[in-house]
Amino acid sequence: MSNLFVANWKMNMMRDEARAYASELGSEIGDGIPGAELVVAPPFTTLDHARDSRERWAIGGQNVSEHAAGAFTGEISSMMLADAGCRYAIVGHSERRTLFGEDGPMLSRKLARCREARLVPIYCVGESAAERARGLTTVVLAAQVETLADDPPNDPLVVAYEPVWAIGTGVAATPADAASAAACLRGLLVTRSDIRILYGGSVNPGNAAELLVQGGVDGFLVGGASLNAKTFAAIARAGPA
Ligand code: PEP
Repeated sequence: MSNLFVANWKMNMMRDEARAYASELGSEIGDGIPGAELVVAPPFTTLDHARDSRERWAIGGQNVSEHAAGAFTGEISSMMLADAGCRYAIVGHSERRTLFGEDGPMLSRKLARCREARLVPIYCVGESAAERARGLTTVVLAAQVETLADDPPNDPLVVAYEPVWAIGTGVAATPADAASAAACLRGLLVTRSDIRILYGGSVNPGNAAELLVQGGVDGFLVGGASLNAKTFAAIARAGPA
């Protein structure tokens, strides 16, 4: 299976910028990067503008409602994401967990909505600095993986290990940290038949190759460094062809 590189734009980019990014990313990758599958997760307002007419990258939602449809002002459903051409949806990013109070039961409903719309969830897990300091990383990962208990074991799943202390801080995990978390997650998810484990947290073109190979992950979820198309393409080129 190819490595997966996901650009999480967060709340950035106007429509013109999204169009310019798509054009630049297309020029950067030409006919595509061997061994790499790319996903761009833009804000909802630019889903159409970030799309590639040649489908060299897929589109993903940054969030999805726990509800299927109805009177939920401001929410975007999984069916709407699929209808807008998304193949993926990020679920449980630490910013959603900490800033918007998303907890396990809510995230498990979001995962179920993804499955109804045939979206592949990119489920984010990771410990905080305080939890890490107390030696609780594996305990936290195990608890967060519990949320996947009802998720169909043979459906494709992406799990992103994103230590909260590494997100947007410029301090990435070491390859050894990433490797031990990835091994822990693979052990916890051993019954899954189609799974990719990503790392996320201050990935850049300088640390990508080492994190990918020594970290034993199947790609990256990239925030800040994905806002530049050239930089994102350079990160996606870090893997073996
Ligand atoms: C993220 O938000 O998922 C992320 C990994 O951000 P950054 O790359 O900026 O640390």
